[in-house]
Amino acid sequence: MNARLFRLAWIFAAVGLASGVSGGGALADEGAEAAFRAEMAGKIMTVQGPIAPEEVGITLPHEHLFIDLSLPLDAPERWALSHREYPDTEEKLALWRMKVRLDNLADIYRHIWVNEDVLIVENMKEVLREATYFKNAGGRTLVDVTTNGLGRDPERIARVSAESGLNVVMGAGWYRDAWRPEEFNARSVNSIADEIVSDIVYGVGETGVHSGIIGEIPAMTVVTAPEDSDDVKQLRAAARASRRTGAAITLHQWVGDGSQFMKMLDILEEEGADLSRVIVGHIAGDAYDKVFLLEAALKRGVTLEFDLFGVPSPLGNPTVDNRYMGEIVSKLIEKGYSSQLLLSQDVCTKIQQRAYGGKGFDFVLADVVPYLRAAGATDEDIDNMLVRNPARLLAITPTQN
Ligand SMILES: [Zn+2]
Repeated sequence: MNARLFRLAWIFAAVGLASGVSGGGALADEGAEAAFRAEMAGKIMTVQGPIAPEEVGITLPHEHLFIDLSLPLDAPERWALSHREYPDTEEKLALWRMKVRLDNLADIYRHIWVNEDVLIVENMKEVLREATYFKNAGGRTLVDVTTNGLGRDPERIARVSAESGLNVVMGAGWYRDAWRPEEFNARSVNSIADEIVSDIVYGVGETGVHSGIIGEIPAMTVVTAPEDSDDVKQLRAAARASRRTGAAITLHQWVGDGSQFMKMLDILEEEGADLSRVIVGHIAGDAYDKVFLLEAALKRGVTLEFDLFGVPSPLGNPTVDNRYMGEIVSKLIEKGYSSQLLLSQDVCTKIQQRAYGGKGFDFVLADVVPYLRAAGATDEDIDNMLVRNPARLLAITPTQN
């Protein structure tokens, strides 16, 4: 039995002893959860079992190894929920069915959300090769924030980790409404929290593979949506699951005018979440002239994640423009916030992979870091963003109050 498997067996034994439960979707069991928090405090739960923070090294905190962002043609209502244009003509259907090739990349770039092939990443050999680019650039840990509804596959993720030699931390929870089953609507906050806690404490289903972080949790609609909406319910569930497990929360959101941002944090706080355990993801170039709003959030203790580096950038759209994002990060570093910033690439489509002409999993290390250094970031700043902040956030940290 290798060291990792030994540690995994040990944590099962620790949890099993306290609860008499041997895993697989068990619901609330305060004894088992307390044992998990005590045994795991300060450690990081990867898909191959617990590791020490010193083993984390250079980390990408927001990526997807395998993912399916497509939508079925027989469910037009789900297209409406996701604000995608349903392919209702022969021409649009042809676009939807086109396979990604080098000679049609330009078309795909213009129609990313209405082409099926580009939205599905499933080939083990290709994913392993992509992960290796990150490893060869010095990377050691990758956080796969793929959640339920997007094709999260614990066993295949664990295989990539074992074969690539990278640590992988896996997410928990459900993605946006278009990717949630209708029954989700009838679920209570506690039943959603129970499911997240179960994935972290016992592992997903019968796989024995544990989640180590909560999210990415969609929090885009919390200002306009009613209190009993699924997004608000899930945000509350994430906070409760964080308290019950000590795992950090990672959020999918768009900064908007900033008001949404604060409402989201208010809800988490109402539920007793520790905001220093919250990662606000997808901070993008459209915050360029709203750095004061980002600072207001930073002052509340959250970590801001610039995770869209290398995403294909449409002309004239600052949102995912590397230069805008790079300048915001530089400004925040200059203001002394490097211990609350994270960098990643959100690789979630074929065209973000190197095999299909994308920037790949090593773009942050190969391009963004040199840019930030040239703009004045110190070794300590870089180390904070790539190593220390991820290690701190990924370590299971039971809430004090
Ligand atoms: Zn996201």
